[in-house]
Amino acid sequence: MEFPHFFLTQDLYIIVLILFFIIIFVLSYGILTLIKKIFNNFKEILDVLKSLRFNSLRNFFIYWLLQRKVIKTTRGWLHLPIYIGIIILFLGTVIRAIDYYFYKGLVSGFSYVIFKLFMNLGGFMVLVGLLALLIIRIKIKPSELTYTWVDWLFLLGLLYMIITGFMLSGIVTIKTDRPLWVDPIGYLFGMLIISLIEANIEIFYRILWLSHLFLSQFLIALIPWTKIGHWFFSFFNIIFSRKEISLIRPILDINKLVEKGENFGVIKLKDFSWKQKLDFLSCTFCGRCETKCPAFNSGKPLSPAKLIQSLRYALIKGKEDVIVPNLIDPNIIWSCTACGACVYECPVFIHQFETILDLRRGVVSRSENVPEQALATLNNVMRSGNTFGLSYYDRDEWINSLIEKYGVEYAEEGKEYDYIYWFGCNINFDTVQRQNAEALIYILRKLNFRIAILKEEMCCGEPIRKIGDEFTFQNNAKQIFDMLSKCKYKSLLVSCPHGYNTFKNDYSTLGYKINVKHYVQLLYELIQEGKIKINKKFKERITFHDPCNLARWNNIYEEPRKILENVADNFNEMKRIKTNTFCCGAGGGQLFYQIQIGERISKIRTKEAAETGAKTLVVACPFCYSMLKGDAEEMGMEIKDLAKLVAESIEE
Ligand code: SF4
Ligand code: SF4
Repeated sequence: MEFPHFFLTQDLYIIVLILFFIIIFVLSYGILTLIKKIFNNFKEILDVLKSLRFNSLRNFFIYWLLQRKVIKTTRGWLHLPIYIGIIILFLGTVIRAIDYYFYKGLVSGFSYVIFKLFMNLGGFMVLVGLLALLIIRIKIKPSELTYTWVDWLFLLGLLYMIITGFMLSGIVTIKTDRPLWVDPIGYLFGMLIISLIEANIEIFYRILWLSHLFLSQFLIALIPWTKIGHWFFSFFNIIFSRKEISLIRPILDINKLVEKGENFGVIKLKDFSWKQKLDFLSCTFCGRCETKCPAFNSGKPLSPAKLIQSLRYALIKGKEDVIVPNLIDPNIIWSCTACGACVYECPVFIHQFETILDLRRGVVSRSENVPEQALATLNNVMRSGNTFGLSYYDRDEWINSLIEKYGVEYAEEGKEYDYIYWFGCNINFDTVQRQNAEALIYILRKLNFRIAILKEEMCCGEPIRKIGDEFTFQNNAKQIFDMLSKCKYKSLLVSCPHGYNTFKNDYSTLGYKINVKHYVQLLYELIQEGKIKINKKFKERITFHDPCNLARWNNIYEEPRKILENVADNFNEMKRIKTNTFCCGAGGGQLFYQIQIGERISKIRTKEAAETGAKTLVVACPFCYSMLKGDAEEMGMEIKDLAKLVAESIEE
């Protein structure tokens, strides 16, 4: 069997050729125009290409070719047949062109049969996927999806192309007396059409052929300018994505910038990095980030999806305005709790949070459009060294009592300790939370660990960095790193997951390597090693809230559960757990300022805890403790720190 090219349309051959060159030109023009919007010059492109590493290859295979992140949701699975089908159809079209122009006979005999069957399979997969997505859009109407004319044009346009493709193929198969099994689906479509318009089938075929051709070329030409451009840009976004989502890019030379009186962060679109601009053009408009965003789900004005899409639009249009407040309302960026759910969910590795952070940095550096309470927090840190702006006198007294009661020490140069226990602002200044820290010290001192405490602690920089004050953050980080470098210790022990993430990830991006451990890691190890002996188990029904900074930003979620298995008899999970945890609302600096719009995020989370029937809500984070305490108590639940629970369970 030979491949029948241009069946009944040989005279239209020249149209194909002309269209082909026009489309190549239009497509290249579109893509090059957008590439010019991403990069400042050719050298930057070369530098980026040079940065390709093994990680890029891995990302290509796992996340682009195998679509591992896309298939995390049901709708993602429905994209899979479309994705595979389009690849098959694309390769088939290329083979077909090679057969016609360069290597006649490539597709003939047995290879023709295989070719046709594969094209049938590809078309069928796309058809099924498109129909499923169409039904979802019409029947379920998920609110996170967009319903613009472009969405409908591409969805219905692709459907038209697949159906007409089958019709054209089927008519050829039947009219050239080929058997049904060579082109099963095409044959059925062909039979249907021929039975309907037998007399004028040749004219109909030519019209169908032309419409198929023109529509396909029209859609291809539109690709760069519509959201379908993600087919092209997301490929690069995936291969150039960072290894760890928790490594947030610092602003280099911040001291020089501030000395020169220059702004930092992002003020106009041109200030975004090439990667951020590539992020914007890669958005698939899937809305996954929005469905997981606690700010959006509590009625705040932030939708990470809409934010990225607005920036994409502004980039394409070449807008040169100051972004906040001219293009983006300040409440949008200040609603973010830095929970990372958007970043974690995005199938094409867009870092929505880093974009929000850069916009915050921009407004903070200009001291405009920053919530008053957030500004007050920054001033507190600059003036008093801590986020609450309180004197350390009271803390000194408390630590003296710890020295007396538990035998902890002030860290001294030259002495060696097992752990330096970093309290963090919440524990340093909240008398209730100090009891949680005491519980941990009690456990560790019972096991004779040498625990040291720093005489002078200052804000580790987490909330101020998240608010956008990169300058103070980097200066605090340097002072703390220098201070810790003088001490000898196995690990820096923290109770605060925010501090954990900051010491582990944020400091490392500045070149400050600190061996830090959150207490859930340590307690888990000690239980595993049999060093902690549990004497009594907690009987009441409890539930556990995963802090974003442990579970999502650092993949620490099994340790607290293993501890709970040992110390509690009646542990029940909430609906959203582990990396799918729902923020308490305190992150991104929001423990210190509030956006008074919509529902309180803490309330939503506490309701979820109450739905488990738990009488006690266990947490492992001082921020979560502060944020959830009031709501939990209102709903009749006690809030308890995990360290306290362990301490109670070892009492004799
Ligand atoms: S980090 Fe969390 S709160 Fe901020 S945009 Fe992403 S999902 Fe929303
Ligand atoms: S940013 Fe990512 S998750 Fe959000 S809509 Fe775009 S592609 Fe989807």
